[in-house]
Amino acid sequence: MKREQHSEETEHTQEQTSGEISRRDFLRAACTLGISMGASQLLAGCKPTLAGEAGPTPGATRTATVSSQWIYDPENPEIPQNFPQDRYGVPEPVDGIAEIPLPEGTEPELVPEATPAGEPTATPSPVPTGPRSNITWYCSVCGETFQTSDFLRAHAGTAHGWRLPEIIKVDQPTYRQFEVGKVTAFDERNTVFSRTMWDEEYQAKLAAIVPTTQVDKNAMIEGNALIAGSIYVDDTAGSLHPNYYGYMGRVKNTAGLYNWDDPVSEERFTPPDQEWMTNRIKEVARFYGANLVGVTQIDPRWIYSHTFERSTGNYERNEAKFKYAIVMAIEMDWKHINESPRFEASAATALIYSRMSELASSLAKYIRSLGYRAVPSGNDSGQNIPLAIDAGLGEIGRNGLLITPHYGPRVRLCKVLTDLPLIPDKPIDFGMREFCEKCHSCALSCPPKAIRDSERTTEITSISNRPGLLRWPVDVAKCYMFWRENGGTDCSNCIAVCPWALHSQRDWLELET
Ligand code: SF4
Ligand code: SF4
Repeated sequence: MKREQHSEETEHTQEQTSGEISRRDFLRAACTLGISMGASQLLAGCKPTLAGEAGPTPGATRTATVSSQWIYDPENPEIPQNFPQDRYGVPEPVDGIAEIPLPEGTEPELVPEATPAGEPTATPSPVPTGPRSNITWYCSVCGETFQTSDFLRAHAGTAHGWRLPEIIKVDQPTYRQFEVGKVTAFDERNTVFSRTMWDEEYQAKLAAIVPTTQVDKNAMIEGNALIAGSIYVDDTAGSLHPNYYGYMGRVKNTAGLYNWDDPVSEERFTPPDQEWMTNRIKEVARFYGANLVGVTQIDPRWIYSHTFERSTGNYERNEAKFKYAIVMAIEMDWKHINESPRFEASAATALIYSRMSELASSLAKYIRSLGYRAVPSGNDSGQNIPLAIDAGLGEIGRNGLLITPHYGPRVRLCKVLTDLPLIPDKPIDFGMREFCEKCHSCALSCPPKAIRDSERTTEITSISNRPGLLRWPVDVAKCYMFWRENGGTDCSNCIAVCPWALHSQRDWLELET
């Protein structure tokens, strides 16, 4: 029975996929025509809720009226031949960000708040399902409900259009206003992954976990195979050294892609100026596979005070002393992430770990070949999220993750630490603080309730949270315990359900960030 229902859902998804080109063309055209509204307004409207529970109240949202002679027809979604070709063009970037204005004379109009509705949608699968199975996706712009996020996504584009939000470059990162105490460098030994190696109390809790999700053995073999192929590049980045395995970033003396010991070229390149070099670095990073790239002058608080290697137990003062971080984001596949908390989502994460190691090592090699110090870094050495915020890639969300305007939290981060003189980017503000105050989707969809659903607090949940901040602390210990409970796969619910993760303009916007 479960298998049949799953097949049904898969067919729907394939149907959607077969219309991908025309829908994308439609989005491009629709946005160029200006039927879109501000993304934050749209996204405030379209979000999932647990069936039977009141959804978040985004407040009155606004939309614009369609001002084109050409109206989208779902029965005939192809763009007409006579549709003006120049309207397919990418809008001119404004201050580095492509913006699509509403058409002249178009006044946004108020749309009443929607009432969430809908019956629970059983997620039929023999593989881990997790509690997201009772989510109905609804659009609170118009109140329509959807069985899957794919349907909501198609609806969001076709019914409302979308565009990048207004992005303002600011002098101080937006988290600064929430620094209410002393914020110091974090010790890598206190991350939840490191604690699995030394924290006896936590180890005892993990040992007591009995997986609650029943996993079909055959499905598990296939799921694990998918993950094994995805993580393979990262897994072997340590040159098959026994002290290296995937997801770890740098492990000293294991060589491989995260190696710090490659020599710096004795011949030094002289760039025309710093601005040229900064632009070139970004161009090269994109060429090597980055979707987003930014530069920050390193705030030493975001570099680990001590490093801890899980595979060796090696614990020492951090030796990473560099002036700049080039922070890069790589998009994770939407369809696979949307399968969370099943194997497909874990594979989407694992695949980007492989891409991270390739990207960071390639860019570090490029800089070393120019004659400057540079080292590749995954999750090691320092905290990617605050560095990425400082580098202008996004803001922090309720789920504790970096939210980018382009892909939401559906990215993974890596970095290159260097002394190559560069011009730092400014942080950005696109309204995440206010947005997350209203939207609780990640908290509602977190199986172990590890994401805070109420107001910000200075309390921490464990030593794995950094003190001194007024925020929504994520109980990462609880989160990781759920991963263990969930039949051997992890979880990306708080990425998949974030309304910003639905965003994917990469096909029709030339990203300049
Ligand atoms: S916090 Fe952890 S358990 Fe909760 S939704 Fe996110 S990944 Fe899943
Ligand atoms: S981080 Fe959570 S609260 Fe913020 S927009 Fe995403 S789902 Fe909503």
